[in-house]
Amino acid sequence: MRYISTRGKSAPINFEKCLINGLAPDGGLYIPEKWPKFSSQTLIEMKHLSYEELAKKIIIPFVGDSFSEFELNNIVYKAYNNFEKKEKCLLKKINEKLFLLELFHGPTLAFKDFAMQIISQMFELTLSKNNNNINIIGATSGDTGSAAVEAFKNKKNVNLFILFPKGRISNIQRRQMTTSSSKNINAIMIDGDFDDCQNIVKSIFQDFSFKERMKISGINSINWARILAQVVYYFYSSFKVSSYNEKTTFCVPSGNFGNIFAGYVAKKLGLSIEHLITATNRNDILNRVVKTGVYKKGKVHKTMSPSMDIQISSNFERLLFELFERNHKITQKLMTDLKRDGKFLIESDMLKKLNKHFKSGVSSEKETKKTLKDTFTKMNELVCPHTAVGLKVSHEYLKDLSFNTKVISLATAHPAKFPEAVFESTGKIPNLPNRIKDIMNKKENYFEMNNSVDDIKKFITERG
Ligand SMILES: *Cc1c(COP(=O)(O)O)cnc(C)c1O
Repeated sequence: MRYISTRGKSAPINFEKCLINGLAPDGGLYIPEKWPKFSSQTLIEMKHLSYEELAKKIIIPFVGDSFSEFELNNIVYKAYNNFEKKEKCLLKKINEKLFLLELFHGPTLAFKDFAMQIISQMFELTLSKNNNNINIIGATSGDTGSAAVEAFKNKKNVNLFILFPKGRISNIQRRQMTTSSSKNINAIMIDGDFDDCQNIVKSIFQDFSFKERMKISGINSINWARILAQVVYYFYSSFKVSSYNEKTTFCVPSGNFGNIFAGYVAKKLGLSIEHLITATNRNDILNRVVKTGVYKKGKVHKTMSPSMDIQISSNFERLLFELFERNHKITQKLMTDLKRDGKFLIESDMLKKLNKHFKSGVSSEKETKKTLKDTFTKMNELVCPHTAVGLKVSHEYLKDLSFNTKVISLATAHPAKFPEAVFESTGKIPNLPNRIKDIMNKKENYFEMNNSVDDIKKFITERG
């Protein structure tokens, strides 16, 4: 499989290069040159596979020119070896129509582990085969950073630089990043919000001489390999709740649009999906664009679901490319509009097309609290605030009787990652799982820096 850029000005490359490059040189995002499609016979066979075997089956068409089946087998089994549950993710039935998909049984208690554990194995293998070293730089609204620190700690040929916004992530999230004693990990606290962190990473990626010289690579969800790894649990969970050919709807608490885009990919590959619902907190740029076609940046508000406090959803560019039938000129134009005017517009005929696949909803802080509380009192289930945003939107969707599918609502993090928010809404403090308790006593190591691209470059030059 070769990968092309959404902006059409970079040469097609293979998977290995796509993994290492992250962002395309023309500023676009990589996407497969064409979508493979699983036959109905293959889909039937897939139904009974274990998580690992299913992952191999789904991933191999995308990576076949870079990894052998034997290598992919090792990658997948090593990646999921330290998940708490044999099934990797658990499905909980809430009622006849609604299911909760728990994606927080990995080492850092958020769904980010599903992709990060896979890509760290892929990086390790590729780099050792080519006798290469790299500096990975990433921005985080909390969970990407902790998942990356866990996945890349003590990896020999990688230095990790992870930028997080000061005061805008939970204590547990911060401690997960700052208590690693591994020498290749650099946690950097930026005086700014998540979009500032992401912008620093993007400008470093666009400084080609620096990128070349310092061998910079990325692990944000703009990296195709992360999306690819996330496709697997859409298949896995849909097979568990639906019979053959019965369509499922997924509701996805969204920020950077990476997770839900993986759902779109699953649909492209042949999974029967009715709708993909993007659920946002009051930072609702995704809800607004799905409802009105206007993608307009706003101010970032701090909420109780900090991993979704984002006003630029980078992966939306991949959807635009798909929506406009892979026309890179239109994609480029919309991204130029966004850069120049802070917004772009999707015309109504295209919006209709988008709405065939995508629905959306928003949950205010008040509604999120109420959902957290109701989920606890009615079902005795503590959920994280991101998951509550998704549940609120799922309930709303199910009220519309013209929709007739089962809904799988994604539980994106463990409630114990956000104890303050959970306590405030339910009066109950969620138990931190034993395996991560030790972070509360360890010494924190991090660097505090200004919101400045030059300062970060200097830092990487010194420590990379
Ligand atoms: C990252 C994250 C999200 C948002 O996912 P995207 O792929 O950025 O849309 C939602 N919930 C939690 C808990 C997260 O960590």
